[in-house]
Amino acid sequence: MRAQGEPEAAPEHDGAKRFFLWTIGCQMNEAESAKAAALLSRAGYLQTYLEREADVVIVNSCVVRQAAEDKVAGKLGALMDLKRRRPDVRIALTGCMVTGQETRLAERFPHVDLFYGPSQFDRLVRIAPELAEVDLDLADLPHYYDEGVADPNVTAFVPIIYGCNFVCSYCIVPYRRGRETSRPLHQIVDEVQRLVARGVREVTLLGQTVNAYGHDLPNHPDLADLLAAVDAVDGVQRVRFLTSHPKYMSDRIVQAVADLPSLCEHINLPVQAGDNEVLRRMRRTYTVEHYRERIDYIRRTIPGVTLATDIIVGFPGETDEQFQHTYELLGELRFDKVHVAMYSPRPGTLSNRWEDDIPRVEKKRRHTAIEALQAGLLTERMHGNVGRCYEVLIDGRSRERWRGRTRGNNLVFFDAPGDWKGKLVDVRVTDSTPWFMLGDAVGVHEYAVSGR
Ligand code: SF4
Repeated sequence: MRAQGEPEAAPEHDGAKRFFLWTIGCQMNEAESAKAAALLSRAGYLQTYLEREADVVIVNSCVVRQAAEDKVAGKLGALMDLKRRRPDVRIALTGCMVTGQETRLAERFPHVDLFYGPSQFDRLVRIAPELAEVDLDLADLPHYYDEGVADPNVTAFVPIIYGCNFVCSYCIVPYRRGRETSRPLHQIVDEVQRLVARGVREVTLLGQTVNAYGHDLPNHPDLADLLAAVDAVDGVQRVRFLTSHPKYMSDRIVQAVADLPSLCEHINLPVQAGDNEVLRRMRRTYTVEHYRERIDYIRRTIPGVTLATDIIVGFPGETDEQFQHTYELLGELRFDKVHVAMYSPRPGTLSNRWEDDIPRVEKKRRHTAIEALQAGLLTERMHGNVGRCYEVLIDGRSRERWRGRTRGNNLVFFDAPGDWKGKLVDVRVTDSTPWFMLGDAVGVHEYAVSGR
């Protein structure tokens, strides 16, 4: 029996080392965790979902809001107990919390063995020496993540551009992820081909400013060029992209979404505020008029398009009247999805120098007002879908039903015996809430050789 305080032995298993991943934040973090998993799998490690049996633990962090940073700190605190019981376990912290903060973090979390910034996979070798034998080019091939998995994902995230050249006054991302760096077009197409061969049906191309893609590459291909190349990959059923900046939402990109068969009719275009003075202080570099014109062009060009946006409420100095302009813009443009967040000051950003003068209770009121507005709009809109049929890609099960998304990114559930994962199913909507639809499967699409 182990005496209290005495270190535990490493758990007994089949000899293979195991890794445990904990990820919070954006899709880019999910994609980077998948890459870390791919590399460790290639080095002979097995993934475990029980941290107590892991030899390597990787925490992939987010600091976009204080709440996310608090969760990361909580997770690292909890891992202190694991490290005390199992000093042999190796713990790494990566993601936006790390860049330029290593010394401070090492003092605060002395039980963490390695701090590495986003995409610095080569540094993992310090806690997983077996990686010395692995070709690190695999870091560009996250589909290896699914290698040998009996039930691989049918959707995948593919980063196409890293970093951000904007300096929005509230945002920490450019300080932690650096300048924009696009991946070569042929490398992305190659990756999509491999993903499709692995059974992936839908890819989402990722970037902090995804529609800035290509300006730093030879010959300057743009996102429209890349979308055409990805659409031409045999077998790809659906293509999406996240997150766009209104300044770079060119006619060419919108036209590509309209013209290319695999491009889903859904665009996420964060506006952040509906007041020009707030946008100016946010350093967003566009006006409400420009944004409205882009939305109008998108709706005229892409029939049936669905639209999502992001909003920050309670930005420093945001008056009632300025908030009302945001509220009215949302009522006017009637988005299909609004991600609303309360302003959270981030050390190191420009807006952090300004007083965070909107009381939390007022931020909450504005947040609730927008959510109520959206709930009302979507109750009506989603109810209008009852009786209609939608093509749904089934990506798994939840709530004891089959779950999938329409091309417009609406969540759909249905109940039926059999294995539907990965299938493109026609679902007739029988009921709705503001957030999802329920329906019956009425047909299944065959995947054509051309992928259409
Ligand atoms: Fe941050 Fe602005 Fe860049 Fe988006 S565009 S990542 S909000 S700096």
